[in-house]
Amino acid sequence: MRLLLVEDDIKLADSLEKEFIRKGFAVDIAYNGVDGEFMGDEEDYDLIILDLGLPQRPGLEVLANWRHKDNKVPVIILTARDAWHERIDGFKAGADDYLGKPFHIEELSMRVQALLRRTHDMAGQLSLQCDTIKLDEENQQLYLEDSSTPIELTGTEFRLLRYFMLNPGKILSKTRLIEHIYDQDFDRDSNLIEVYIRRIRDKVGKERIVTRRRQGYVFLETLE
Ligand code: CA
Repeated sequence: MRLLLVEDDIKLADSLEKEFIRKGFAVDIAYNGVDGEFMGDEEDYDLIILDLGLPQRPGLEVLANWRHKDNKVPVIILTARDAWHERIDGFKAGADDYLGKPFHIEELSMRVQALLRRTHDMAGQLSLQCDTIKLDEENQQLYLEDSSTPIELTGTEFRLLRYFMLNPGKILSKTRLIEHIYDQDFDRDSNLIEVYIRRIRDKVGKERIVTRRRQGYVFLETLE
């Protein structure tokens, strides 16, 4: 999952970036509204965290512009505490959720996970589960049917498997997978993705991820 963080408070942005990287997200940051709007349009983010008080262009205007251009990316806005009118304006402009500042980082993290599940039709689930495969997002471990023994995942394996599990049954090209699990500084020409897919297949079963020649990979929700 790849996040865009639009926040001009450098200290806050840095601490959020660290925390979300630790939780297995790829994170890009924009420190003003103009860059934020541009990046939100150019890149295919899974979710955007948008501060409303931004230099160069207010967050509310950035959000309204995205929605006007039919950019439906899930957005959580960060509002001033007690500013209820900001939250109303935010929802009217197309926000999916909000959090008042100051907030606890863990609450933002939970809201991000919940919003990602809602946007992938998994609302209300306590953990990410596909058929017999359960992913513990907190500990970045994998559980298979009939076993209470967790299987360890590396950071990249976790990011890749989570993206597959949130998008079952869809053809996911190598480019799309790379875009959603690495930030913009990553070398996009890498063929490493095949190596990681092989490793995930070793853990969840080879037949779970089907290769479509010249198109990409499909994570099967159920096995025949
Ligand atoms: Ca601000």
